[in-house]
Amino acid sequence: MKKCIRAARAVTMNGSDNITTDFAMIHDGNRILETGKWSSLKNGFSGEITDLGDVTIAPGLINSHIHLELSHLKDKTVQGKGFMDWVKSLLASPLYELEEKAVRNALQTMLADGTVFCADISTRNCAAIASIMNEMGMGFYAFCEAIGLQIPDAGAKFFPQKDFSTGWAAGAGHALYSTSAQLLQAVKKADNEQKMPFSIHLAENVEEDEAISKGTGDFAELLKGAGMFASCDQKGLTPVQYADSLEILDDLTLAVHCVRVTDEDIETLAQRNVNVCLCPRSNEYIGEGRAPWEKILSSGINTCLGTDSIASNHDLSMWNELEFFLKNVESRLSAYEALALITTNSAKALNIDELYGSLEKGKKAVFATVPPRLDDLLF
Ligand SMILES: [Zn+2]
Repeated sequence: MKKCIRAARAVTMNGSDNITTDFAMIHDGNRILETGKWSSLKNGFSGEITDLGDVTIAPGLINSHIHLELSHLKDKTVQGKGFMDWVKSLLASPLYELEEKAVRNALQTMLADGTVFCADISTRNCAAIASIMNEMGMGFYAFCEAIGLQIPDAGAKFFPQKDFSTGWAAGAGHALYSTSAQLLQAVKKADNEQKMPFSIHLAENVEEDEAISKGTGDFAELLKGAGMFASCDQKGLTPVQYADSLEILDDLTLAVHCVRVTDEDIETLAQRNVNVCLCPRSNEYIGEGRAPWEKILSSGINTCLGTDSIASNHDLSMWNELEFFLKNVESRLSAYEALALITTNSAKALNIDELYGSLEKGKKAVFATVPPRLDDLLF
């Protein structure tokens, strides 16, 4: 049976900044059949109508970087003292002991906030978390994160080849300093073969810079002590330059953080058509500074936002993430450009734009309600 959702206003993200008033979206319970003004769609419509009233709706939100595996670590890590203190407090926690209840609670708050899809990174619990997301109706990429110095055998599998109804599993690399070059390249190749996105933490902080360019510093020593330091080439390259030398940067790569990028790095990312996921509140929470947001946006790089895990953020709300970004970014963004960071750009970055990112015919019939507190920032 056909169903209809009505709202006083909608930003459909269908290629323009326009706000449609008297909005209606007709769907079959799964996909959108038609959108437009209720005054013109109502003729001939019969079915169930849900009228949301005096609200503005937008496409369902996408969180492009999260670690649900760490959902039990809220307020358990050091805040604002920089990466070394944060990572030490993280490593002192029961990192990979999956607490299903915490994961379910996290997903529930995300769904209630309007998030309909997330790119989740999991080191040890990829299949279990994928099953929970599937069961709770969250769309997802369940990224199984490769980390360590091992060199994979030919034909090694990096993610479960399983059919889920609401998402997919794919491979991710943790970071350049923690994962062998051969392993990163093998995971990237496996993702590319299936046209799936590949996610990697890149250029997150000053400690990473030194570990990669020189192999020195407290962070490199910490990793060496744990037998986890991927030596990189130590020839003075920036993280982006080193990643580029491994040939893992392309239009299916999602580079997460990109706080420490030079103008040349930004140019490289743009040339390779890499997608960048900024995690503004996570970087602030840890005390890493912030990415050159304005330069990244003006370079034309496809840019989206993620919350990162609750171990480095106050909550998992994409609206709060966008609000923080808009209050601190120095460029003036239109409503379309701002909402794109959590809808259309994210869908493009994750190669799911046939199904998500805008309210248009053929896509998933999912939406989010714009919180009125963002009205002044957006419209
Ligand atoms: Zn992360």
